[in-house]
Amino acid sequence: MSNSLTPMMEQYVKIKNQYPDEILFYRLGDFYEMFFDDALKVSKALGLTLTRRSNKTQDIPMCGVPYHVSETYISKLIEQGFKVAICDQVEDPKLAKNLVKREVTRIVTPGTFTDLNYLNSNENNYLMSLVYSDYNVSISYSDYSTGELFTTKKTFISKEDLLSFIIDEIDKVNPSEILLLSKNSKELKKLIRNKDIFVSEVEDSYLKIHSDILITLSDNMNAQLKKYTGEYSSLNLLLNYLGITQKSSLVHLKDIIVYKVEEYMGLDEHTKRNLELIHGLITGTKKGSLFQVLDSTKTAMGSRELKKWIEKPLFDKGKIADRLNLVEELKENLILIDKINGQLNQINDIERLSFKISNFQISPKEIKALANSFSKIKEIKKEILNSNCIHLKNYVKNVCTIDSLIDEINTTLISDPPHIIDDKRFIRIGFDTELDELFNASENGQRLILDLENKEKERTSIKNLKIKYNKILGYFIDVTKSFVGKVPDDYIRKQTLVGSERYYTVELKELESKISGSKELALRKQQEILKKLRDKIYLNLRTIQSTAQKISKVDVLTSLANVANENNYVRPKLIDGSSLEIKSGRHPIVEALNKEVMFVPNDTTLNEEKFFNLITGPNMAGKSTYMRQVAIIVIMAHIGSFVPADEAKISIMDRVFTRIGASDNLAGGDSTFMVEMKEVSNILKHAKSNSLVILDEVGRGTSTFDGLSIAWAISEYIIKKIKSKTLFATHYHELTELSNVYDEVENLTIAVDKQGEDIVFLRKIINGFSSKSYGIEVAKLAGINEPIVERAKEILDLHESKENVQIKMESFNEVVNPNYDSFVKEISKIDINTISPLEALNLLGKIVEKASDINDN
Ligand code: ADP
Ligand code: MG
Repeated sequence: MSNSLTPMMEQYVKIKNQYPDEILFYRLGDFYEMFFDDALKVSKALGLTLTRRSNKTQDIPMCGVPYHVSETYISKLIEQGFKVAICDQVEDPKLAKNLVKREVTRIVTPGTFTDLNYLNSNENNYLMSLVYSDYNVSISYSDYSTGELFTTKKTFISKEDLLSFIIDEIDKVNPSEILLLSKNSKELKKLIRNKDIFVSEVEDSYLKIHSDILITLSDNMNAQLKKYTGEYSSLNLLLNYLGITQKSSLVHLKDIIVYKVEEYMGLDEHTKRNLELIHGLITGTKKGSLFQVLDSTKTAMGSRELKKWIEKPLFDKGKIADRLNLVEELKENLILIDKINGQLNQINDIERLSFKISNFQISPKEIKALANSFSKIKEIKKEILNSNCIHLKNYVKNVCTIDSLIDEINTTLISDPPHIIDDKRFIRIGFDTELDELFNASENGQRLILDLENKEKERTSIKNLKIKYNKILGYFIDVTKSFVGKVPDDYIRKQTLVGSERYYTVELKELESKISGSKELALRKQQEILKKLRDKIYLNLRTIQSTAQKISKVDVLTSLANVANENNYVRPKLIDGSSLEIKSGRHPIVEALNKEVMFVPNDTTLNEEKFFNLITGPNMAGKSTYMRQVAIIVIMAHIGSFVPADEAKISIMDRVFTRIGASDNLAGGDSTFMVEMKEVSNILKHAKSNSLVILDEVGRGTSTFDGLSIAWAISEYIIKKIKSKTLFATHYHELTELSNVYDEVENLTIAVDKQGEDIVFLRKIINGFSSKSYGIEVAKLAGINEPIVERAKEILDLHESKENVQIKMESFNEVVNPNYDSFVKEISKIDINTISPLEALNLLGKIVEKASDINDN
């Protein structure tokens, strides 16, 4: 086939064969062109016109995009799940003797995409790599644009636990691309088929780090890798992949952060979703989430950092206290908050410049933005050091503001330099005399020629002497025939025309060469200065990164202080032991998003004696809201945030679990009873005494008796075995009898006021239980018409008189210590008019049995 191709197409095919899975962007003049199948795919995906390129024997399908807007098209292809290999000209076309040499200079994949115009600035773009066997897993992830790099490993006793750990980590990190070995890929692809994640398979050779990639890493990272040899195999996968796709230095990758999941409070995906920590349940976006409520950060870096804090609440009391101390100081210093925010507002996303710094690609505009941002950071540091905030002062005292580099940038670059380097000047006047002269020569060339012309006119007294220019001769002095006699000796004849003679002088020649070459020289000189500047910035990469990191944390702390002030939050007290005491707690999201409605605060007490609260009450009373609020307050405290309450004493909790019953699950979808039970089983397996467990209407997705029995047994297991702090909302009123059996159980309900036929929700949690669901009343509130409501009441009356007996008798037998009073009460409820003969006989049998029980006791 290659014989039928032109040399250029031959080159194309050769390169394309090395990148069968990627779309090859082949640079041709001012375009990136695609051919053959790639052209068909891309023209369809991007709606581009498909054309044909003539070739020896047959035309080839082709489409293209202008190179200067290629990033837009690349970002669209990435979004649609393609990878793009960028093939550039790697020699100057002017200098090339034959076909211009071309090479793939970069492969863009979802997890390595770095274009700042298209990346979401509030979110990290993570590439994750996974290596696992039956019991061991190694996970790493990195944001190539910021240089963050994390790794962890863990051993499990069952494959099931291992896979559920992997899913939890994937949900936590939310990568846009996952790297896998082929042997793991089938299983994992199935696990994440519902998620919008790009999967890349790599060969086993990626398990060992390639030597040419090793040398592009920082010394620190090399040392770290040596220390961990073989321990974190996923790390090698990741680094190899980054090196191979980016084809440039990875020196901006920061030190590897080896983390253990145990260092953070455990939050599974379900819990995160139900508590709306990052996304609102209804919106699926940040709107309506805790993240939205807490986020008054001013920089993109701060916003990304806050998200990480919310996703990974701390487990270490000392570290939480450190954060709280800082928030508290800021909270009490409103003026300082204002001053800091005023500066933060003007700080750019310098964290995401780090890969450009390491690859010497940072543009003059970005360099200036870096310098401007650092001058704001310097101000922030100054303001804090001038304040009386002891903890904060300590926090920022080591922040390096690289003053001399910033000064140098400011004296080197003009105040508004361009992003794209063309033939414009971006180096300040006065910075370099040679450069100034070169630019002067080129920009003022015309004026200098005029000056010379005037000077020559005066010297020779030739009134109509002119200096002219044409492409062949360049500059020359034009003298009409009548004045030739006046021409001085130093004029050198260049050309004779009919009416005039053309001359040049040594001075004109010098000026000419200065003018014509000066522009090119000026631009070259300018590039040289820029290169030196980039080199210096590169040497400061580590410092720039760590300062950016610190300042993003200052942004988060300031945001938390700000929000605490605006919403009247208090500092939670971290206590020892295992208990929870909240006075007048509120739900931060409900409170913030429905400002018209007065939120009714409620108390919570869970301790080692009474750790199981059973909450009954009508639909819409506020049970779910109450339980979520307790969970969110606990999580906020672990983040290091103040909390919506009058007072909160909270011991360290290892995990928060929530299970929202199938029928109550707003997100809906796949929440069948099976899924519900799987999740409960997961909770029962992993919860400990210092976990907080929220069960909302568990057991509802099946028949009443089934559901009640399961709910009862689960409760018992938690009370007797696990002893987690538990809030359980249920419509099974029968469960309230648990408190008769177990001292650890407290019954709670939500006060409702019955006004005639109608109910009014008071939203106040009180001790006790509600024996009624008020389902019909709620239906009425919702607008169900009067005849239906009346009929429902009739049916309910009928039903209750029949069923209650059975349910009560059952629970009598199995769990409750029988006592005479309730026995008599049950018998008195039997409705002789409706009971069938067979039921009556059964019942009689039970009564006799029960009576003899009571007699025995
Ligand atoms: P339940 O779980 O008992 O059916 P929800 O917790 O879903 O009830 O609450 C029903 C409605 O009441 C929600 O729209 C919520 O905004 C509102 N609500 C709940 N608790 C409060 C409260 N303490 N103060 C004000 N409004 C509340
Ligand atoms: Mg509810």
